This record gives sequence, structure tokens and C-alpha cells, in this order.
Amino acid sequence: MHTLGYIDPELASAIDGELRRQDNTIELIASENIVPPVILEVQGSILTNKYAEGYPGHRYHGGCEYMDAVESLAIERAKRLFGAEHANVQPHSGVNANLAVFVAMLKPGDVILGMDLKQGGHLSHGSAVNVSGKYYQTFAYGLDPRTERIDYDQVRDLAMRHRPRLLIAGASAYPRVIDFARFREIADEAGSLLLVDMAHIAGLVAGGAHPSPVPYADFVTSTTTKTLRGARGGFILCRAEYAKAIDSAIFPGIQGGPIMQNVAAKALTFKLAATAEFRAYAAQIVRNAQAMAARFQERGLRLVTGGTDNHLMLLDLRDLADRGVTGHSAEQALAEVGIAVNKNLIPGDPQKPTVTSGVRIGAAAITSRGFKEDEAAAVADIIADILLTPSDATSERARRVVRDLCKKHAIYQS
Ligand SMILES: *Cc1c(COP(=O)(O)O)cnc(C)c1O
Repeated sequence: MHTLGYIDPELASAIDGELRRQDNTIELIASENIVPPVILEVQGSILTNKYAEGYPGHRYHGGCEYMDAVESLAIERAKRLFGAEHANVQPHSGVNANLAVFVAMLKPGDVILGMDLKQGGHLSHGSAVNVSGKYYQTFAYGLDPRTERIDYDQVRDLAMRHRPRLLIAGASAYPRVIDFARFREIADEAGSLLLVDMAHIAGLVAGGAHPSPVPYADFVTSTTTKTLRGARGGFILCRAEYAKAIDSAIFPGIQGGPIMQNVAAKALTFKLAATAEFRAYAAQIVRNAQAMAARFQERGLRLVTGGTDNHLMLLDLRDLADRGVTGHSAEQALAEVGIAVNKNLIPGDPQKPTVTSGVRIGAAAITSRGFKEDEAAAVADIIADILLTPSDATSERARRVVRDLCKKHAIYQS
């Protein structure tokens, strides 16, 4: 940082400010995490100097012997970690991983059936503003309004009616276990290929805290960020029969040279995720999320589905609407005391997406900092205080709790 501070003080100051922000914030945005310093080291390595278009043993650039070693490690570790037949570790992001599956298996105009963005799905699963919704004919399934869980009967009805070429399972804001076996049955009955996008839960799957989609899906896409706590980027797992189609869809289909420092950081991510420590981490994420969920409910706040099986939960703030509380206002009030969450639509939300009646809360990042159940519950308590009994005294107390917890669990000891 000293050199950067000299060459570009404005940029150095922004990065330094972000480090302090992260260190002083209780991060509950469910897609975020805090990677180990070795991941930062690899992502900042000299591998960034190298072009390596192609795949190990088949490159379009010379001098790739070490790049082949790096990428082969990432591929073999991903396959072993998840028990997959084939892995592509080059996608620059999770959305690119999904796009590669579409490019590999679909023609423009083919039918996709995915989870509704407004009910917890991801925009790359067929939303009109995304390429998935522009180039393909898309239909969306959602939640049973009574249970707020995926309505598998509706998934089946829509699949039988529209016969999608590709059925997509996976979500960004769903607090319950996804029944991959049920999705497989529906895909088989409708003659569809099954893609599972496990971006949010990949760390839980790797750590044995959520069932694996790999035995059921033709394709599994993911990010290495989020609960997997690693490199910024994506990857694809698939059955051997689709290996060639997937690899050519990534390169030369939608990408050029792989970002090799990130591919290397993915290799390290998969190694770390195969350890006993990581299994303990994944289990602790779920315990922390459930401790928070229990405390919210003790305080009289409602959770979508009444709880969580994974790393995240959705607070339903509709009961507080007459006091002017919305997802947006809650996000802002919590940001003021150093707690980061994001507003989120909840099932049947009367508010528009820029306001919402919900807040999404995830436990992956605080668990990485070393929070245990009692501290997770204490965080839930101060959130409940801010929402239920806002006052200057409440805010003052909340800031003090945040300061103490952040100091106790510094993100990077320098
Ligand atoms: C986060 C997420 C992605 C997108 O990953 P990016 O790396 O941001 O492109 C894709 N699918 C799901 C389900 C996600 O939650």
C-alpha cells in the first residue's frame, strides 16, 4: 500500500477506506464473505501477467506450463470436492457460468423454466432485463403462498405445459433446503436438462451442511465467492458427456483469456474447502443463522417460512409498515449503526422492488470473523431494537455493540 499511496493517493485512500469500512461493519449481506489472506495473496500474484487462452495441454499462447499446472489443480480439486465428472474453472463470474450453459445447450428462442426473481430467484435465470430473458423464451415458478417454500407442484405443472429445454433450480434469497431429487424427477418427466445454480450455498454443499445437487443435475454452476469464501469468479460442474460443449461455450464461446490469478485462487479455494476446518465453518454458519432466526422470533419479528435451514433468512417487516418501516428504511437505519443488510422483496410484497417489505440477512461473513451463536443472537437483538424501539439511546447502544464485536473479531490482523 505504501507504493500505491505514493503513485495514486486517491485510489489508495479509497481502498484503505474500504478496509476500515469492512473492519468496522457487521456484514450481513448474504452474498458476502471475508476471504482468508492467502486468497488475497494469490489473487494479487504475478499470474496476472500471463495469457493462457485454451485449456491445459491445449493453449493458444506459449509458455503455459505453469498455467497448465495451476488450472489442472483447480479442475481436479473442484471435481474431487464436489464429486463431479467434469469441471470448468474459467468463468469470470457466476452469471458467465450460467450464460455458458445456455450457449452450450440452447438455441435462441428455446424454453427456460427458472425461479421468479421476485420470489428469490436470480436475474440470470430468465429475467427480462438479463440476456437469459432476452434470447430465450422464459417461464418462472415461485413459492407456495401458504408455506412460502418452492411450489414443486407448480414447477411440475409449468414444466409439463411448456416442456423447457432447461429447468433451473437455485436461488439468491431462499432460506430452505432445495429438493434437488424432486427437480430431477420433474426434469426427467418433462424431458428437460437440469441446471442447478448453487452460488449461494456452494460452501454449505462443500462442507456437508446442505445436500449436494451434483448427483442430480446435468450442470451445476456457482461462484467461488459467497459461502465458499474464496476467489472472485465462477465455475461449472457437469457430466462428462457435456464437457466438450461446456468448455467450448466458455472459450471461445463467451470469454477470451482466463483470469489466471483468479483460477489459481479458485484452486486454493477448493483446497481450503476440503478441510475439516471448513466443514466446521459450514456447520457454524448454519448454527449462527439459526441462532439469529430464533432470537428474531423471540423478539416478535416474522421470518419468511418461519426460519432457516441455510446461511440466510428473510425478515418480513409488513407488521411494522404502519410505523413507516420498509426494507429500504430498515437497511438505512441499520447502516447508520454499522450493520450491513440488503432490502429484499418477500413473497406477496405490497411494496415495489426499490422499497420492499423485507430484509435479507446472511451469516457467512460474521461466521468467518469468528462469531458464535451468542454473538450472532446479540446482533439479532440490536437489529430488533433498531426496528422495534428506535431512539437515540438505542442507536448509541447498537453502535457500541457493533464497535466491540468488530474490535474483538478484526477481519485482517495487520
Ligand atoms: C450471486 C449469484 C450469481 C451471480 O454471480 P456473479 O459472480 O455476481 O455473476 C448467480 N446465481 C445466483 C443464484 C447467485 O446468487
